[in-house]
Amino acid sequence: MAEPESELVDVVVVGLGVGGEEVAGRLAEAGLDVVGIERSLVGGECPYWGCIPSKMMIRAANSVAEARRVNEFAGTAQVQPDWAPVAKRIRAEATDTWDDRVAVERFTGKGGRFVRGSGRLDGPGRVRVGDQVFQARHGIVLGTGTRPSTPPIAGLADTPYWTNHQAVEVEELPGSLLVLGGGAIGLELAQVFARFGVAVTVVEAADRVLAVEEPEASEVAAAALRADGVRISTGVKAERVDHDGRVFTLVAAGGVEFTAEKLLVVTGRRAHLDELGLDGVGVDPSQRYLAVDDRMRAAEGLWAVGDLTGEGAFTHIAMYQAAIVVADVLDHVRRARSGPDASGTASAVGGAASAANTAGAGIAGGVPHADYRALPRVTFTDPEVGAVGLTERQARERGINVQVGVSQLGSSTRGWIHRADGLIKLIADADRGVLVGATSVGPAGGEVLSGLVVAVHAAVPLPQLRNMIYAYPTFHRAIEDALRNLR
Ligand SMILES: Cc1cc2nc3c(=O)[nH]c(=O)nc-3n(C[C@H](O)[C@H](O)[C@H](O)COP(=O)(O)OP(=O)(O)OC[C@H]3O[C@@H](n4cnc5c(N)ncnc54)[C@H](O)[C@@H]3O)c2cc1C
Repeated sequence: MAEPESELVDVVVVGLGVGGEEVAGRLAEAGLDVVGIERSLVGGECPYWGCIPSKMMIRAANSVAEARRVNEFAGTAQVQPDWAPVAKRIRAEATDTWDDRVAVERFTGKGGRFVRGSGRLDGPGRVRVGDQVFQARHGIVLGTGTRPSTPPIAGLADTPYWTNHQAVEVEELPGSLLVLGGGAIGLELAQVFARFGVAVTVVEAADRVLAVEEPEASEVAAAALRADGVRISTGVKAERVDHDGRVFTLVAAGGVEFTAEKLLVVTGRRAHLDELGLDGVGVDPSQRYLAVDDRMRAAEGLWAVGDLTGEGAFTHIAMYQAAIVVADVLDHVRRARSGPDASGTASAVGGAASAANTAGAGIAGGVPHADYRALPRVTFTDPEVGAVGLTERQARERGINVQVGVSQLGSSTRGWIHRADGLIKLIADADRGVLVGATSVGPAGGEVLSGLVVAVHAAVPLPQLRNMIYAYPTFHRAIEDALRNLR
């Protein structure tokens, strides 16, 4: 069969999730001839099966919990949770019943060209999708994300277990649910379903839930879920999973068994680099994630963005990196086009490049460089667990002269009024006199985090943090106490 002829375009973006869609749209708006390839839904995991529907579920579950708190503070209330409005909202408002027409039109409306299919590198500067081949004049951007990984547990792969997709798409709740994986996603979904009356058990291999965060945060989160009726088993080594057509049985080391109607597996996600044709461009496809430099370059003319890079599986990381890719690609285009007769085109992309430049941090030489020192992350349980930068353990492992300051939310005025569980934990570099990490657990832990992100990001000197004014009686006032407790 004859090889298809390739079509010359400016940029090809493979995978239009959060990161890819942002890059493709902004490059198209800047006047480049951009082809965007997506095999599933434009927008990716976040709007259809991730952040947005899960936060809609959490909003609903928290309203149920708040209504129940009337009995503690304001009389009596009987709450009868109903999943139907939640499922309807996810279908109607978040996902258009998992239809991406609006997102496709958003991209084509910016001047991009959309191709539905699986893209794969076909040698340097070339991408193949089905029987079409595109030759990219200026570059290729990979934003192919990750997919849920199945842990190597005997029998599991043959069972109809849930991933986040089925958990978000569910119309009728099961009576019982086993959640394998006590990370952020597992805990968020476990609490939601428990608040709607599902008997939930979380099974975690590590010795605590939220194992990547501070142990104090894990304790508060675990206690909160237990108060919602969630059973939590940590240090469990799952050995086998069976499904008899009705019930899942998970058998752990020592013969301990867990059973439930449904099994949700949220033990991690994997980038499938082997599917991308990377070996044809001199990039090792056996890496866990696609290694990039601080301008998101994986190879000459090849950029990557989002979860695929392994720098943090968060929408805000994908968006942050997208701003860098846009600026760097436009800079590259401007340089390629700069010549005696190309000034008009150069200034057209130049304007967009400068706008993109202002979007990132670590700006050097016109194009922002990625800097993850102040990477924020929030687990949207109730209470929320927000964190930025290094944990105490990470700071010690790096040989930093660590000081730790903790304050309990319950001993702050607002926390006491609220009867809130939570804490602030600060990690300081005593030699530099700045915070290098912080954790904020509480009813608005993710929002309280913002001030701490500024402190870590801008390396605000500790005396300045101690001498500023914290509004009374806010949750964030507990930061002042934690600063006082640094030692
Ligand atoms: C349940 C859940 C809750 C989450 N909650 C939050 C949250 O609250 N806050 C937060 O910041 N993050 C959250 N995340 C993470 C967030 O969804 C991801 O970080 C984000 O979607 C990453 O964007 P991305 O562009 O890298 O990849 P994705 O969104 O995964 O998009 C990649 C796209 O590439 C496509 N693709 C893959 N291979 C190919 C190919 N060869 N050709 C064409 N297309 C291809 C895929 O179909 C997909 O659409 C959550 C995730 C989950 C699962």
